Parts: sequence; C-alpha cells; structure tokens
Amino acid sequence: MNTQDGPGRPGLVKTVTSLANPLVKDIRALSQRKHRQATGLFVAEGLKLVADAIEAGWPIKTFVHAEKVASHELVTRTAARVVAHGGLVLKVSEAVLEKMTRRDNPQMVIGVFEQKTVPLDAIDTSSATVWIALEGIKDPGNLGTILRTADAVGASGVLLVGDTVDPFGTEAVRATMGSIFHVRLARASVEAFKAWRPGWPGTVVGTHLSATEDYRAVSYEEPVLLFMGNEQSGLPEDLAGLCDRLVKIPMAGKADSLNLAVSTAVMLYEVRRGQLTV
Ligand code: SAM
Repeated sequence: MNTQDGPGRPGLVKTVTSLANPLVKDIRALSQRKHRQATGLFVAEGLKLVADAIEAGWPIKTFVHAEKVASHELVTRTAARVVAHGGLVLKVSEAVLEKMTRRDNPQMVIGVFEQKTVPLDAIDTSSATVWIALEGIKDPGNLGTILRTADAVGASGVLLVGDTVDPFGTEAVRATMGSIFHVRLARASVEAFKAWRPGWPGTVVGTHLSATEDYRAVSYEEPVLLFMGNEQSGLPEDLAGLCDRLVKIPMAGKADSLNLAVSTAVMLYEVRRGQLTV
C-alpha cells in the first residue's frame, strides 16, 4: 500500500516530502538521548549496514530511503522485507533526509531500530570468549571503535558499567560501522556489577597504568573478562580490586597513557591471539 504525507502506520509504504510531517520530527528527535530513552529506538545510517541488520534479525521500526534510490535492487528487497514484518517504509526527498539526520550530505538510507541490550543475569558466561567491561566510558567515538574491534576479534560482548555515554547515540553507532548489530551489549550500575562479578567463571583482567605485570606475560584462559578504565581517571581502586590480574601495556616515549580504544584493541588481540587466523 502506498500513501502520501500523513501519520504513519506499520506495514505501509509512504511518501514524505513535507518537512513539517510529524514523522520527520520524531526521527530527528532521536539524535537526543532523552528521546532515545523515552522511545527505546535509535537511528543507523547506510544501506548495507541497515540491510545487514535486518538480515541478522534486528527489529526495525522504520526504513527510510531517498526517492532517487527507490529502484536500487537492495533498497527494493529490504523495503519489501520491512513491510512484510509490519514495519514502515518512508520514501522521502533529500531535504527530508537532511532534516531527519541533521546532516548536509546524508546517507540515502536510514533505519530506525529498537535498542537491544542483554540483562546482566542473562549473560551466558559458559560459552563466552571475552567480555569487555568498560567503566564510565564517555567518548562515543571510543565506544563505537571498541564495539567494532570487539566484533572483529569475536568477543562475546561489551558490558557498560556505571554512568557511560549512550551506545545508541548517532556518533557511537556511526563509529561501530555496523558492529552495533553484531556484538551483545549489557549495562550495569557499579553496585550491580560488583554483585555479579563473583559469578564470572574465568579470569578478570584489569588494565591499569600503575600495574607492574606486562600484558604479554599473562596466559589468557577464556572466558576472560577484560576490564578497562575510563578516559579521564582510569579504573577506580575499588573496581581494580575486583580483578584477578592487573596488567599494563608498556610505553617507551613521553605519553602518559594510550587512548582507551587503542589499548582495548591491543589487549583484545593479545587475549584472542591463539584463536584468530587470517
Ligand atoms: N589518566 C588516566 C589514568 O590514570 O588511568 C588515563 C586513562 S587511559 C586514557 C584510559 C584507559 O585505557 C585506562 O584506564 C586503561 O584501561 C587503558 N590504558 C591506557 N593506556 C594503558 C596502558 N599503557 N596500559 C594498560 N592500560 C592502559
């Protein structure tokens, strides 16, 4: 079914050219954390990324594409799939896409998806390779990069501990390059994390600038819980005290520390060294 501007209903294809359409405002509002929290939705941009997410079974609410790509084979196929699953397909002008995404040169396709996280007590530790716990991470680019790296090394998931940046924010999602759809995400308060940690069946490895053990000296038996501190102050002492091992990546120059995403990548490649082949 194809309708013109008006309020949206699932399972429909609509054409939207008016910047005043309420659907435009609703999607634009998802750039703000409070609206993502209120709706449980988020936006991802790019045809391949959106199509891959749908292919992986991630629940999509609205599929938006520019009129000019309407006959693209993957756009047609993806739109048909969204409608079949009760979602809404919007065929829009580029001006509408610009307004929705707050970008001058927007991607020709965006998807509005439901947020998905795993409750802490549903984390399957028995089949885990490595989970990465991030305490108080604040930079969306760092978080997105870590999710992308976690995906690349076959990590089981990323656990956000305490007050952190929103993983479903536009900048974080962009930095994941699609890995937001392929890595399990969990969230916990510091108190909930402390209560859960004794149930971890393997080694808990923390990274700390005052550690005396070289990260290459440890034999990493999976499942590993890799604990990274935040960008400003590193792992607080009470959380560092919950780790079985504290390790440091040696540095030769004048730098005080490595970037959080870089140090997480170095650690992950060491933890998973024996498991990865080209
Ligand atoms: N001023 C902070 C501090 O004193 O910890 C710097 C934090 S650093 C930018 C962010 C996080 O990256 C650290 O908490 C740690 O998890 C990790 N990290 C950075 N450089 C590291 C290194 N050389 N060895 C181990 N971990 C490191």
